[in-house]
This record gives sequence, structure tokens and C-alpha cells, in this order.
Amino acid sequence: MSHSQNKPTPSWNEILNHLGEDRASYDFSISPPISQTSNFMFTSIEDLRHKLIHEQHEHVYTRGNNPTVEILRKKIAALEKAEDALITSSGAAAVAIAMIPFLAQGDHMICVQKPYTWTFQLIDGLLRKWGIECDFVDGTYPENIKKAKKANTKLLFLESPNSLTFELQDLETIGQWAKSEGILTIIDNSYASPLFQNPIEYGIDLVVHSGTKYLNGHSDVVCGMVCGSADNISKIFRSPFMTLGCNLSPHDAWLIIRGLRTLPLRMQRSHDTAIQIVDTLSRHPGVRRIIYPHHVSHLQYGLALKQMKGCGGLFTLELEVNTKDEVRDFVHALQRFLIAVSWGGHESLVFPVLGLYDRPGLPDPVLPWNMIRFYVGLESYDYLMEDLHKAFRAIGLQDEVR
Ligand SMILES: *Cc1c(COP(=O)(O)O)cnc(C)c1O
Repeated sequence: MSHSQNKPTPSWNEILNHLGEDRASYDFSISPPISQTSNFMFTSIEDLRHKLIHEQHEHVYTRGNNPTVEILRKKIAALEKAEDALITSSGAAAVAIAMIPFLAQGDHMICVQKPYTWTFQLIDGLLRKWGIECDFVDGTYPENIKKAKKANTKLLFLESPNSLTFELQDLETIGQWAKSEGILTIIDNSYASPLFQNPIEYGIDLVVHSGTKYLNGHSDVVCGMVCGSADNISKIFRSPFMTLGCNLSPHDAWLIIRGLRTLPLRMQRSHDTAIQIVDTLSRHPGVRRIIYPHHVSHLQYGLALKQMKGCGGLFTLELEVNTKDEVRDFVHALQRFLIAVSWGGHESLVFPVLGLYDRPGLPDPVLPWNMIRFYVGLESYDYLMEDLHKAFRAIGLQDEVR
């Protein structure tokens, strides 16, 4: 079925520097032009007819395809070892259009517990209203997922690891099981990026990304990606992609192509610094618990080593404190970690779960208020540790590492 099975897989060296770039067709520019056009002309009625039939891969109208976006599509598909990809104007749109063609009224789906906020809203708000039922299960054990299957289960949505507490799913076991049951599998692979985890190799059908995070990597574009077989991507293209109109602009696609040039450098840098900081903090008396899949203390450390080549810059900890005020003072003492949502850019960030507490009209989260997520950007270990030491001192926590 897969033509990519017959071709040697290009390395990321090839993909990020050359693949999809036909330099001879634009004056041998190294950097591709931005095809800032909504529309394309045809040379004849025959040309028009042919291109309308093959709109997904021809140049008809930019809501469907565009030469600059097309370069990015080819690179992202190759990075995920997929046959094709679509680029969307947000990660949330990518999640939605990946699910919609494969579900109808009366169907059942399974999703892992605690998915990304807007994935949960899509399933629990929109899809439920359309008569699609979902069970949210703890995906740490494949048995939980298998047990949740019903006669009308059509789709399984995974997020491994998720982006706050980093629980993993065993992709090989679950992927093979779902295939044997005829259930379509989708994974949100934003945490690991295609450099550190390729779920298609384990039999997962569709991979979605928030490209806003590592893939763009410069905190200046919101975008998403869906990768999969030519057949599945065609289904997504014809209906939700074209009807909802969630394409990315050519200019933003160009920025992501530029961001991708340095993806391996950025990911490795964030990973190396994060693991050093996690190791230090795991021995710090001010830290009750730390979560990072490639740290020996992670409950699924073995699985993380098996299916992920790296982790990147996200880690979460619980502070050893008794009051919310101490959490606030700790976070406010940080100056080099900016208080923000999102992650994957050049700059380090801190997201305190405390910010989700005490919101009018909303229930408090199930996560503890002393939990804090950090994102380690491209700064050095010493520079970031100085800031963390300062914050521990601000709340009077002993500053020596055990
Ligand atoms: C950010 C994020 C999304 C949504 O992506 P946007 O680009 O913000 O729309 C989806 N899944 C995960 C895991 C994310 O972190």
C-alpha cells in the first residue's frame, strides 16, 4: 500500500535542508519564495479540469494547496515517515480535522485521560453534541484501552506523553491491537516531535502536531499538522480541510520551513539542558516529586527509552511546600522563566497549575496546586539554575542538593 515502503527513508539532514525544494524552478534561491497568492491561473480548460481533479496536490486555490505550503507538507510527511501531510492554521484544527471524517452519529471512541484542553473540549462539547460517545481512560496500561472497546468503537485518540504530567501509552502494543480490531488510531505527537518519536512505525494511523511548539520553535506562528497514509489524508482533505478552511498562510509556512532548519539543534539543546536540570532538582529538598520521561524516577522509564529517542525541554515538579502563597512567591521570584502557556520556543517558561485554581464558575483542576510545569528553552544550564536557586531561596527552602 505504501509507496514510502519502497523508497529509502530520507534522513533529517536531507529532509530539513533539501527535500521538497526545487531550487531550479525559482532562480536557484537557497531559501524558497513565499507564494503570496490566493489564486492560480490555468492554461486551458483541460488544464483546469485536470487540476481540479487532483486539487490536493496541484495549484488551484490556496485554501487547498500552495507551493510554499507544499514544501512544508513534504518535509513534515517525511519527518513522520508518512505518505502525505496537511498543514493547518492551528494544532487544535489539526486534531479536529483528523477525527471528523472517521466518526458519525452513533459511533463510540476512546481517548486517553487528560488530553490537551481543547482536544477534550472538541470531544466532550462538539462531538458529543453530534451523537458521538467517548470514554476517557488511563492509557498507562493497554488493558484499560482494550476493556473500553465497544461494538461501535471507531476511533482511538492517544497523546503520548501528554503535555503536563507525561503519562505514556505503549504505542506498539496498542497500535497492533487497534489494527487487529479495525479501529483507527490518532496520536498527538507534539510533546516528542517527529525527531524523537515516530508513531507510524508502531502502527498508529494518523499523527497530529501542534507545530506552534517545537516544529516552528520561535514563538511566532500558530500552526498544526496531520500526517498519515495517502488514503486517509485524501479523506481529510476533501471534507473537513477544504470545508472548514483551516489552511495555513504561505507566509507562515515559510517561517516554519525556516524554523525547521534548526530543529535537531534546538531539540537536542533543550533535551540536554532539561535532563541536567531535572537531575539536579530530583535531589533538591525543595522538590517533592519530579516528572520527566527520560529520568529514572519516571514510572514508565523503560517504555520511554524504548519508544522515544529523547524528551525535549518539558518537565513538571511538585514543590515541597504547605501553602499556595509559597508557590506564588516561588514562581514570582523567577525572572528567566517567563510565566506562560505553550512551549517549544527559544525561551524558557513556567506554567504553575495554581493559575487554574480559583477561576470563577470553573471547578478546580484534579492536579495539585503545588505542581509547576517548566519548559527549558535554549538558555544554558547555569543561567537557568541561578534563577531556580534564587526562587528556592525566596521561599526559604534549603538550597543544597542531596
Ligand atoms: C498546544 C497543543 C495543542 C494545540 O495546538 P495549537 O497550535 O495551540 O492550536 C494540541 N496538543 C498539544 C499537546 C499541545 O501542546
